[in-house]
Amino acid sequence: MAKNEEIQKQLDALRGEIRALRDREDHFREIAKDRGIQRFEAANGCTTCRGRGWVVTWDTMDILDGSAADYGDCSNKSCTPETRQASGLHPSNTRYDHNRYTTWAHFHDLTEAEKDEHFALQPQIEILNKKYNDVEMSARPTKGKLVEVIAKSRARNAAAVGVVGKVFWYGCNDWGTIKVGIMDTDGNKHWTSEKSVTVLKQQAGKEYDQTYEDQYPLLCKVVRKSNKAICVMTPGASKFTGGEWIPWSQILNADQVRKQLEGKLLKDGRAATVMLPPWLARKKGYLRG
Ligand SMILES: [Zn+2]
Repeated sequence: MAKNEEIQKQLDALRGEIRALRDREDHFREIAKDRGIQRFEAANGCTTCRGRGWVVTWDTMDILDGSAADYGDCSNKSCTPETRQASGLHPSNTRYDHNRYTTWAHFHDLTEAEKDEHFALQPQIEILNKKYNDVEMSARPTKGKLVEVIAKSRARNAAAVGVVGKVFWYGCNDWGTIKVGIMDTDGNKHWTSEKSVTVLKQQAGKEYDQTYEDQYPLLCKVVRKSNKAICVMTPGASKFTGGEWIPWSQILNADQVRKQLEGKLLKDGRAATVMLPPWLARKKGYLRG
C-alpha cells in the first residue's frame, strides 16, 4: 500500500496548508470584529440603529429575507448623521442590512497591510484546492492509466497482487463498489476493485495497446451507428441490402473508429477502415476460405 500512503500523505499535507490559511482568515475576521466593536463603543455608537440610521418599522415576517419590510428613521433623538459618521457601522449584520446595502464587512476594520494579506488568502486557498483535486484525480485508476494490483479484492477471481495493466474499464457495479478492468500486455483481462490498485502512470505505454496480428481490414462506409453496433456498407453492395451490423465489441480498432465517427453521420455514411477478427470477416462473407 506504499503508493496509496504516499498519496494520502500529500493530501493530508495540502489539507493542512488549506486549514492554516483558513485559520488566518478567521483570525482576520475576529480581530476586525473586535476592533469594530471597540471603535463603535468608543464613539458611543447608536445601539437603536447600530449606526445605520434606520430601523425596521414593520415586517410581515412571511418573507425570510426581510425584503417586504418597512423602514423608518432611527428613533434615537441623539443619533445624527454626524454621530453615525463618527461611530461607523456596528460590526454585525441582519437580513435587513443585506437589503439596504448597509452590511459591515470585516475588511472595513482591517489595516491596509492586513487587507492585502487577507485578500491574498482566498486565491491561495483556491490554488491549493485545485492541487488537492489534481492529486485525488491522478490517484484515481481511470481508463487509459497504467495500474498495479497491490491488494487482493474480496471478489471471486479477483486479479492477483502484482498484476500490471492498462485500465480499460472503470465504473460502479450494482453494489456501489468501484470496479477496475485491467488488460496486461498479453491482452489478458483482470478485474478488481478501485481500492486494490495503485496508479503507476497517467497514461499506459504503447505496449499495452493490443496489436492483433490476425485481423481483417474491412474498407467500408459506416451508414448508421448505435451504442452497441455500427451498420456498414461494403463497396459494391446494393443500397437496398441495408448494410451489415457489426457490434462494437467485435471491432478491434473500436476507439479509432469511434473517433472517426464523432458527430452526426452524413446521409450516405462515412468511409472507415474497420478491423475485424478473421472469423467474423469469414462469417460475414468478406473473407473467403
Ligand atoms: Zn440610531
